[in-house]
Amino acid sequence: MTALLETRGVWQRFGGLVANSDVSISVGRGEIVGLIGPNGAGKSTLFNLIAGVLPPTQGSILFDGEDVTHMPAAARCQRGIGRTFQVVKSFETMTVIDNVIVGALVRNTVMREARRKAHEVLEFTGLAARADVLASDLVPAEKRRLEVARALATEPKLLLLDEVLTGLTPTEAQTGVALVRKVRDAGITVLMVEHVMEIVMPLVDRAIVLDLGKVLVEGKPSDVVRDPKVIKAYLGD
Ligand code: ADP
Ligand code: MG
Repeated sequence: MTALLETRGVWQRFGGLVANSDVSISVGRGEIVGLIGPNGAGKSTLFNLIAGVLPPTQGSILFDGEDVTHMPAAARCQRGIGRTFQVVKSFETMTVIDNVIVGALVRNTVMREARRKAHEVLEFTGLAARADVLASDLVPAEKRRLEVARALATEPKLLLLDEVLTGLTPTEAQTGVALVRKVRDAGITVLMVEHVMEIVMPLVDRAIVLDLGKVLVEGKPSDVVRDPKVIKAYLGD
């Protein structure tokens, strides 16, 4: 069976800076794949290329059997690519439920249906009790969960998570880990960026390490953490 997502020889240049350099990765259906690497490695840039925020300078992106390289972000979201942002982009002056309805409207143009979907997602993510509070009143861990909830409301096949577990207390991070597993068990493929290896490695089926814009190593988490190239990249961070 073909991969759900594939990037083929993807490059992203910002002027003289090469943020992604010949990146070819694939994510199989039902996998949780970790995209890790030091700060500035190019992880968020690759997410932006996959989600369609930016067109790659070179290379192609295939999703669910289709070449989406030149497809706008909204169309990719319709195809089933859902994402969170490293910098939380919730609408602070809106309630939690309304934030999630914004996501649900991508698929359900009937307001009543979108609201029903949003409530379902809030139950799923453990935010139901916070439905009517303003997003600005959530604690940071809840804001991260709201980001996930809004992405889930778009009913993705692939969920891109950018550092949703970073900066949380150990207990909050474990709640986050459990949510990611639950997402996968619901049949959604996950590609997650994390800077902190200790959090992601026990969770992912496969890890891909980016360093200086390039794929440094990929494989089973237990092999990746022992790889001398990976240790060197992190120590040099
Ligand atoms: P990571 O998410 O792995 O920390 P990023 O993808 O955010 O890394 O950044 C990779 C490199 O690209 C960094 O050097 C960053 O400064 C640069 N970069 C990212 N986005 C832009 C942009 N829009 N314009 C110019 N440089 C950028
Ligand atoms: Mg980043």
